[in-house]
Amino acid sequence: MQDATFPPVMTCRDHAFYLDLDGTLAEIVARPADAVVTATMRDLITRLVSQTNQSVAVVSGRSLKDIDRLMHPLLLPAAGSHGQELRFPNSFTEAKGGNDIAADAVTKIMEFASLSGLLAETKPGTVALHYRSAPDLEAASRNLIDGIAARDDRYRAIHGKMVSELAQRAFDKGTAIAGFADTAPFRGKVPVMVGDDVTDEDGFHMAQKLGGHGIKIGPGPTAARYRLNSVTGFATWLESILG
Ligand SMILES: [Mg+2]
Repeated sequence: MQDATFPPVMTCRDHAFYLDLDGTLAEIVARPADAVVTATMRDLITRLVSQTNQSVAVVSGRSLKDIDRLMHPLLLPAAGSHGQELRFPNSFTEAKGGNDIAADAVTKIMEFASLSGLLAETKPGTVALHYRSAPDLEAASRNLIDGIAARDDRYRAIHGKMVSELAQRAFDKGTAIAGFADTAPFRGKVPVMVGDDVTDEDGFHMAQKLGGHGIKIGPGPTAARYRLNSVTGFATWLESILG
């Protein structure tokens, strides 16, 4: 794998942008509830939406509800919970992806969280176990989620930054991008996926398979062709492509 390089200037009107939220549009913070999309970033995204003819979608591990709260007053097409929830443009109706996680699995994760003082979050199609407050519980958290996923082939484990999640296997950020790319106004544009974490790799693969590009934010191995160092670096690059 060749190392990712600095992305070139891209013409906004020919491209469709799929943007992760935490670590891409917002700095990562200790408590996910405290994350903020700055006014500067919101302004850049507003201009990007306008200059791409509305071809910007947020593709995040957060729920749609949470994405909308962070992006407010922007209301964008979005994929929530790693592609489990989809909201297409135009109709703005929600086409739901997967079913929710079965109750016994949810209970197991909630019980572990409450015994260990961790935060468990139920979202459409996934349950997330956040261990940022107790990083020494990383292995135990991963093992719990891996164990449940290994016993039920409807599910897969997703290990992100200080979070392990149980998710429906059938949906990921790649399937979300494929769905948007087949829909106006995204259809016919070169897809660009921007993200910082392991679950963004499905998005990088799909964008590049569809003739587009992946842009990885920050360090770490990636399938993405391009890399930017930080959220601020992404903002600077966005400024450079906006007219
Ligand atoms: Mg992220």
